[in-house]
Amino acid sequence: MSVQIDIVGRCPVCGGERLALNSEYMVVCTSCGTVLGGAVASGAYATRRDDDHAPIFGSTLFDWHDIRGLVVPKYKVYEMLNRRVSSGVETEIDKLASLLSLPKACSSTAKWIVMRIRYVRDVELTAAAALFISCRIVKTYADFKFKGFDAEKLRRKIVLLQKLAKLSMPPPPPVQVIHHLVSEFKLGPEVVRDSLDILEVLSPILGRGKIAQLVAFILAARARGHKIDVRAVADASWSQPDLIVDALKTVARAVK
Ligand SMILES: [Zn+2]
Repeated sequence: MSVQIDIVGRCPVCGGERLALNSEYMVVCTSCGTVLGGAVASGAYATRRDDDHAPIFGSTLFDWHDIRGLVVPKYKVYEMLNRRVSSGVETEIDKLASLLSLPKACSSTAKWIVMRIRYVRDVELTAAAALFISCRIVKTYADFKFKGFDAEKLRRKIVLLQKLAKLSMPPPPPVQVIHHLVSEFKLGPEVVRDSLDILEVLSPILGRGKIAQLVAFILAARARGHKIDVRAVADASWSQPDLIVDALKTVARAVK
C-alpha cells in the first residue's frame, strides 16, 4: 500500500514550514530540529469519523510538550492511501470503459492518471475525465463517445484533472477525427484528403488542434458542395460550436 503523508503546520519556534516525521513518528521541524508533537490524521478521508482523529502512528498523547516544555498545537498529518482513494474510481473507470467500448490502453492510462492526484471528488465524473484524457494520450479518438455527460461539467473536470495530475492533453489525431466526421456525414474519401490538405494550409493560423481539424473538414466539405452545419459538426465531434465559428471567422479574415 502506498502512503503519502503531508504534514501541515508551522514550527512555533522558528516559523519553518518544512516539517517531517522522525523515526518515532513524531513531527519534527527540519529547520531547527524541534520535536513538535504526535501526528494526527486529517484530510478528506481521515476526518470523517472520530476514530480518524487518532494519530496514525506512534503516541496517542495529543497535548504534547516539546523538549523545552512548551505546549504545542496538534500537527495535522494529511494521509493519502492511494488504494483507498482510487479504488472506487478504478472500478468506475473499468465500468465506463466497457460501456463506451474503449480499448484497454485507455483504462490503464486513466488509472495511472488518477494515481497522480490526491483526492477524488465526484467519482463518476473523475473517471470520465480521466478516460477522456487517456484516449487522447494513447491516440484513440473517442471524444464523441462522451456525449452522455454534461459537456460543461466534464470539460471543467478535464481541465482540473490535467492541472492536478500535472499533465497536458494532446489534441486528437487529425486523420481519425476527419475520418469520423466523413463517415458521420456520409461523405466520400476525397473529403478526407482535402481536409488534411486544408489543415496543413491553416496550421500557421489555427494550429493543428481539434478546432483547426473541424474547420478544415467544414471548408473541405463545403468546397465539394456539401451543406455542412457548424452545430452538426460540433455535435458529432463533442465540441463547442462558438469556437468553430470564431475559428472560421479567423480564417475568413486571414484570407481577405
Ligand atoms: Zn523550527
